[in-house]
Amino acid sequence: MERKLSQKRSQGELEESAGEMHLRLWSWRRERPEASFDEIMERVRQEREAMMRPFVEDLLAEAGEGEVEVSCPECGGCVENKGKKAKTVQHREGTVEVKREYYYCPSCKQGFFPPGSENGAE
Ligand SMILES: [Zn+2]
Repeated sequence: MERKLSQKRSQGELEESAGEMHLRLWSWRRERPEASFDEIMERVRQEREAMMRPFVEDLLAEAGEGEVEVSCPECGGCVENKGKKAKTVQHREGTVEVKREYYYCPSCKQGFFPPGSENGAE
C-alpha cells in the first residue's frame, strides 16, 4: 500500500522534473549556440543525473525493505537493527545517497547491510 503511494508520488515528481529539465536544457542551449557536441552531452549528463537522483534513491530505499528476516551472514545469529544508515555511492548512473536498514551482530561485532545491497551499498 505505502509502496504504491510512494511509486505514484515519485512518478509525478519525475514527470515534473523531466519537464523542468527540458526547459533548462533548451534555455542553456539557446545561450550557447556554439556549444560543442561534448559540451552539450556533458550538460545533458549532468541534468539527467540530477533529475534521476531522488528517483533512484527512492528505488534503492524501497527494495525489499522490512520484508526479510535478517540474520548475521557470518555466524547466522540474531542481529540488531540499527535503523537506516546513509551511504554515498558512486555509480555509472551518478552519485546517489543510499539509505538502507543497517544491522549489527553482537557476536561478530560487525555491522552490515542485508543481502541485496552489495551492488549499491558496499
Ligand atoms: Zn555474527
